Amino acid sequence: MLLGTDEVNGEYQLDMPPLTLETVSFWLEFPVRFIDLVQNYNLDFAGGIHAIEHTLIAIFPLRLLADRNDVGGVSTPNHIDLQEKAGIFIYDGHQGGVGYAEKGFEKISDVLEVTLKAIKGCPCTDGCPSCIQSPKCGNHNKPLDKHAAIVILHELLGKSPYVPPKPTPKKNPTVVKKHDKPVDTGAALKRVKRQLRKDTLKKPIVMVNTKVKPKKAASLEEQKILDRIKEIEELQRQHEAKKKLKSDNS
Ligand SMILES: [Zn+2]
Repeated sequence: MLLGTDEVNGEYQLDMPPLTLETVSFWLEFPVRFIDLVQNYNLDFAGGIHAIEHTLIAIFPLRLLADRNDVGGVSTPNHIDLQEKAGIFIYDGHQGGVGYAEKGFEKISDVLEVTLKAIKGCPCTDGCPSCIQSPKCGNHNKPLDKHAAIVILHELLGKSPYVPPKPTPKKNPTVVKKHDKPVDTGAALKRVKRQLRKDTLKKPIVMVNTKVKPKKAASLEEQKILDRIKEIEELQRQHEAKKKLKSDNS
C-alpha cells in the first residue's frame, strides 16, 4: 500500500502453515425457493446470505456477552453437508467452543430480528460498514447484496414479502447452482482458515479467560501467542498480588 494514496501496489498469497480449529457452530439452511425469490428481483442470493452472516456476527455483542471476534462465519450457496443447499454457518472462535454458538442458536429469532433491523434501518442504499460490510471479511466484502439480505430475512422470519426499491441489474451476479452436483468446499474452507488465522492472531487476551487452552503450539505464530498469553497471565498474577498486598496493608 502506498502511504497517503491508499493505492494497493500488489496482493500476494502468503505461505502460512494451516491452522485447524475444532469448534461448535450452528447453521441456517435455505431451501431453493429462497434462491428463486431473490433471483426474481434480479438480486444476488450469495451476496444476500453473505451480508446476513456479517451483520449477524456484528450484532452478536448486542444480544450476547460476546465480542465480534468471538464468533466467525461462513456462508455458501451450495454446501456439501447440507445436500447442496445454501447455508450460513456461525462458529465459536475458540478451541472446543465456549458456548457462543449455543447461546446464539438459543436466541436465533431475536438475533435475526435485530439483524434485519440493522440492515433495513441503515440509511445507505447498497450496504456500508455500518450494516453489511465486515472489517474482518476474508473475501474483501464480496459478494454483498443488502436488498437480497432483506428479502431473505423477511421470508425467514415469516414477514410480509419485502419488495426492493428498484431492481437494478448486477454487473457480475454470483452464479448459484441449484443442482445436486457435488461441490468443492475448498474455497469456503480456505476462507475459514484465513479468518481463523486472523482471529487467532488478534485474540491472545481473550483466550486467557477461556476454559480451553491450546496445549501444544503447532506453528511459530501459535507459539508467539502462547508466549504472549503466559506473559499476560504473569502480569495478571503480579497485579493481583500487588492488589492483595495493598488491601492487606490498609
Ligand atoms: Zn449501511
